[in-house]
Parts: sequence; structure tokens; C-alpha cells
Amino acid sequence: MKAGIHPNYKMVQVTCACGNTFETGSVKKEIRVETCSECHPFYTGRQKFAEAGGRVDRFNKKYGLKDLNAQQQ
Ligand SMILES: [Zn+2]
Repeated sequence: MKAGIHPNYKMVQVTCACGNTFETGSVKKEIRVETCSECHPFYTGRQKFAEAGGRVDRFNKKYGLKDLNAQQQ
């Protein structure tokens, strides 16, 4: 490879809004995600969408929709 033109690809820690962390390869220093395989309903089988700490949570707090998910169930 030519020196100086390639991003520094390395192992970094990914932090999910649910608290789960895992490692992956990236050129970034750290990665923050709002859903991962540990909390996404597709993998967990749970109906309620993981929303703690993410954009959905902030939106719900801002507009007072905290119990919207609970009401639908
Ligand atoms: Zn997660």
C-alpha cells in the first residue's frame, strides 16, 4: 500500500444506546449506535422498540410521548 493516503483501519469499540458494546473494524475512533443485535426487536423477538437514550427517546421526551409505546400494546 502507498503510505500516507490510507485511513488507519483498526479495531474500535461500538457502544449501543442499550448499553451493549462490541468491537468491529473501522477507521473511526469510536462508534455510537442506537440499536444493535442485542436490542433490536428482530433479534430479541420483543415488540417494544429499544429507545432508551436514542433519538426516539429524546423525541418522545420533547413532545411528551413517553407512554406512546405502552399505550399501543
Ligand atoms: Zn443495543
